[in-house]
Amino acid sequence: MRWNQTLLETLKEIPAEAEVVSHQLMVRAGLIRKVAAGLYNYLPLGWRTLRKIENIVREEMDAAGAVEVQLPILSPAELWQETGRWEKYGAELFRVRDRHERDFALGPTHEEVITDLVRKIVRSYRQLPVNLYQIHTKFRDEIRPRFGVMRAREFIMKDAYSFDRDEAGAEASYAKMSQTYHRIFKRCGLRFKAVEADPGAIGGSFSSEFMVLAATGEEVIASCTQCKYAANVEKAQGRLADPPKAEKPVPRQLVDTQGKHTVEEVAAFLKVPTTRLAKTLLYDADGELVAVVIRGDREVNEIKLKNHLDVNALTLATPEQIQGATGAPVGFAGPFNMKGVEKILMDDSLEGAVNLVSGGNRADTHATGVNPDRDFKPTQVLDLSLAQAGDHCPQCGAPLEIERGIEVGHVFKLGTKYSQAMRATFLDEAGQEQFCVMGCYGIGVSRIAAAAIEQNHDEHGIIWPLPIAPYQAVLLPVAPKDPQAGAMAETVYQELRAAGVEVLLDDRDERAGIKFKDADLIGIPLRLTFGKHAAENLIEVKRRDTGAVELVPRPDIVVRIQTLCREMLDVASG
Ligand code: ATP
Ligand code: MG
Repeated sequence: MRWNQTLLETLKEIPAEAEVVSHQLMVRAGLIRKVAAGLYNYLPLGWRTLRKIENIVREEMDAAGAVEVQLPILSPAELWQETGRWEKYGAELFRVRDRHERDFALGPTHEEVITDLVRKIVRSYRQLPVNLYQIHTKFRDEIRPRFGVMRAREFIMKDAYSFDRDEAGAEASYAKMSQTYHRIFKRCGLRFKAVEADPGAIGGSFSSEFMVLAATGEEVIASCTQCKYAANVEKAQGRLADPPKAEKPVPRQLVDTQGKHTVEEVAAFLKVPTTRLAKTLLYDADGELVAVVIRGDREVNEIKLKNHLDVNALTLATPEQIQGATGAPVGFAGPFNMKGVEKILMDDSLEGAVNLVSGGNRADTHATGVNPDRDFKPTQVLDLSLAQAGDHCPQCGAPLEIERGIEVGHVFKLGTKYSQAMRATFLDEAGQEQFCVMGCYGIGVSRIAAAAIEQNHDEHGIIWPLPIAPYQAVLLPVAPKDPQAGAMAETVYQELRAAGVEVLLDDRDERAGIKFKDADLIGIPLRLTFGKHAAENLIEVKRRDTGAVELVPRPDIVVRIQTLCREMLDVASG
């Protein structure tokens, strides 16, 4: 491709709204342009990368025995009502109405549509197992669309759904997809980790996420420093490093703590460690008030809480609700003598704890000597806290560490959640009707592009892993006064294309400095410069990743570039 022929405009300025480097670079390198919040045009360079990612995904899915289909984006509300997700999915589900006033959803995921398809076709165990996938546009009305295509409202996903005769078959399908995902992300040239995850709105019994490791990632991962355990903190079960010590309970007392608000301030003022504090948080769970009591140094894991309560909407209670329940303004709630609170859930960080400090249910007041079971009765004691660095690994007891990542894939064991709700059954060998056992498997194709940049860039721009780079080589004729250099670039361009190398020829009438800067910005793995060495029949070849430069004799150039491409591909796919 010639630069002048494609639509490629690079930008010097960082777009004001782009918070993360991948978003900045995708706009500056001319990969995407915004249409509206969470909606993007993919420009030619960006689209080429997406197609490459898609191809890797498709090749590996096909190799794993999955078969490609294409389902409609628009699906009738009735299907979503069958599984209860028309309500459960909440505001993230884009809903539209047709001219006959019928409700439809723009698919955020396709369990209902695919289960409907399979129940209409599959009759017998002989038709199973089957794993169907598509690579298509998804819609989610994200509460905070951000980071460019990383969290968009319209994005490209590969979604696959497996249907098996029994648990053992479903287990095998799941394992196969997990292996396939490892191959896919490896082939994309990414550094990643598979971690235990919360199944979220998709549901099911077990799921793993594939995380691209990056300091700017939205996801927080707790991994064991010794064994293989790794989990999204939404799911992780860190065991406490320092359980409470036995002590004699003392009477409860109110103390004036005027001006002390945070856990740290109150603990310092009362000269106790933060682990003595019992934070009391009030939540509105589908309209009911629920209190969560947790140790002062821990945070509530709202995903665990929401899963436990099994509600559609969970939010922190409003100041009015808090005043009504505790008689005090925000910040002084204690777990005793509350009104209108349906449940008091106590995090297991406080199991066995005595003589705690909590809010006093009065402005500027705290209570000391607060004792569970004596001063308040927890409805239940359970794990509701976010894992922290230093917690003990639930598998081997070694300390956990915290890393950040970007979720690029998610695999789920669904069991019979959807097949039961929608009656997707088959007749087994004995002629008995059975529910299909399902799995589902998503990959954020467009998110991979952003994640790859988040992981591979420097101050000058993108450093594409070769397998997903829009082009493998960029050719820069930079000596306009030297017709020989220009002519050489042109013939090398033709020869490389003929040899199957993907090349971009910077045929713009621009200064060398600008071409070099732009080549670094768009991050093409190999840069060929046709300049002062052309007179000696030499071409300068520079690798974008290592910066290594070599002078290659004109007759050797095609073979040399092919060799470099192969080497870079091999490194990526291991
Ligand atoms: P997240 O926690 O980031 O919202 P999710 O758990 O909702 O993701 P899934 O339902 O598992 O995501 O979707 C499968 C894949 O689709 C994800 O692993 C991710 O790579 C991608 N994805 C999900 N939401 C978006 C989005 N808003 N924009 C781009 N890609 C997305
Ligand atoms: Mg989501």
